Amino acid sequence: MNGQQPILRMEGISKRFPGVQALNNVHLEVLPGEIHGLLGENGAGKSTLMKILSGVYKRETGRIVLDGQDIEVNNPHHAQTLGITIIHQELNLMPNLTVAENVFIGREPNTATFVQWRALHRQTRELMRRLGMNLSPTALVRNLSVAEQQMVEIARALSVESRVIIMDEPTSALTENEVMHLFSIMRDLRTQGLGIIFISHRMDEVFEICDRITVLRDGEYVGTVNAAQTNRDEIIRMMVGRAVSEFFGHGESHPGEVVLEVHNLSKTGTADDPDKRVVKGASFSIRKGEIVGLAGLVGSGRTDLARCIFGVDRRDSGEIIINGQPVAMKSPRDAIRAGMGMVPEDRKLQALFLAMSVEANASIGSLGDVARFGFINGRLERRMVGAYVNKLNIRLARFDQRALDLSGGNQQKVVISRWLALKPQILIMDEPTRGIDVGAKAEVHALIRQLAQEGVAILMISSELPEVLAMSDRVLVMHEGEIVGQLSGAEARSPGSAERIGAMMTGEHDHAAAHSIHELR
Ligand code: ADP
Ligand code: MG
Repeated sequence: MNGQQPILRMEGISKRFPGVQALNNVHLEVLPGEIHGLLGENGAGKSTLMKILSGVYKRETGRIVLDGQDIEVNNPHHAQTLGITIIHQELNLMPNLTVAENVFIGREPNTATFVQWRALHRQTRELMRRLGMNLSPTALVRNLSVAEQQMVEIARALSVESRVIIMDEPTSALTENEVMHLFSIMRDLRTQGLGIIFISHRMDEVFEICDRITVLRDGEYVGTVNAAQTNRDEIIRMMVGRAVSEFFGHGESHPGEVVLEVHNLSKTGTADDPDKRVVKGASFSIRKGEIVGLAGLVGSGRTDLARCIFGVDRRDSGEIIINGQPVAMKSPRDAIRAGMGMVPEDRKLQALFLAMSVEANASIGSLGDVARFGFINGRLERRMVGAYVNKLNIRLARFDQRALDLSGGNQQKVVISRWLALKPQILIMDEPTRGIDVGAKAEVHALIRQLAQEGVAILMISSELPEVLAMSDRVLVMHEGEIVGQLSGAEARSPGSAERIGAMMTGEHDHAAAHSIHELR
């Protein structure tokens, strides 16, 4: 980083939306062969800055300099011709077209002949080889995994000879192996002299992959630092303007009587494989005011177990008992009636009615309270939701702002506020802090802890082991559909617990753990 000419310089960028100064005099500089982390809490302005760079929004002040030349970016297509490519968090492919068609979309010869397509297929195969992917150019994009779709987007970026690639939270839906693969590709692109702007909420990833880090807060530029010369605490302080611990500390907890009992629950069948046994004889219980963390690898059956308990999926066998009464649990309606709530894994698809307003989303679970005489009482609804918006520190410009336009952390808080309004006895949360930043995460952690203190029994699924260890009164570990072990909160917070749980999660611990299963009830 020594006097090289930057590939990209954004200087003094400002942008207002009605009611919000999204960016105020913000700077960003990217060097050739640099992976530059762009960090900031939800609503800090990261996406807006990137949308200005990629031609989605117009800036109101400032300059954009690419390779020493002042540029205007008129629209996203123009950005691409300038060598600026954005890989969105919500992938932007045509699901019903092939891999090759998506890579060359808008640039295929307009009367593409068979021979020309053969050439495009060859080029696609070549790009895929460069990315270490074995994807057929004729595969339909809708049949690909998120990671594979991302690779198609990256292939497209390479095929247009991008100078700068923007990745807006590219890892939030990837497995660990897929993240490692993406990082090796990013490192490869770095050696080719490209500039990469990387947005992520995962500190460990940022420190693993980034050369420098620029931090925004509330639309303001806070600073740029070398990753090797800073640390997580400093970055978090820059992001939130105060010191926060990354995980909400574990307070004292006094679990009460057993609220939920699950006996020998089994489920067979996934969309792909009707014979697969996804949950095998799971038994456990949760007490009033207790937070039970459910650890396990992606695909170990944690979400399947949660969906069966909440009545989203049918179990094959097993009993669900709430306050001593067996419950049929044929649908989420049964679960809600029995006093249960669930914050699902994919909050965008399942929990938020994205085009609806925040207030409608937050109150939807408890329309009984706000709907009078068959119509929704707007003022009452607003008052009820307003209380939660304050309580959860949800940052909104307006109450009727669409949930779709909220940042991930704020969306999550809206989803949780729905359940707060319903006052459940049992709350299942599947990856409650995935994809949200440290500040919002600490708030969600504090909220979970507070719910437990108010007596809610909580089942928290999380792929982030540090979160499970810090938050749980008890940890259950799943491996290939079975609960293979458990740790008390004290065990979870003592040295070596991560290794122990890791071994259980990967099945290396089956025999040693077997005896503890009998103590699960
Ligand atoms: P980040 O990506 O850092 O979470 P954003 O750039 O998405 O932040 O948002 C910055 C601010 O601008 C937030 O207050 C957000 O609510 C607001 N905002 C973003 N997009 C829009 C929009 N299309 N209309 C109105 N406000 C918006
Ligand atoms: Mg964003």
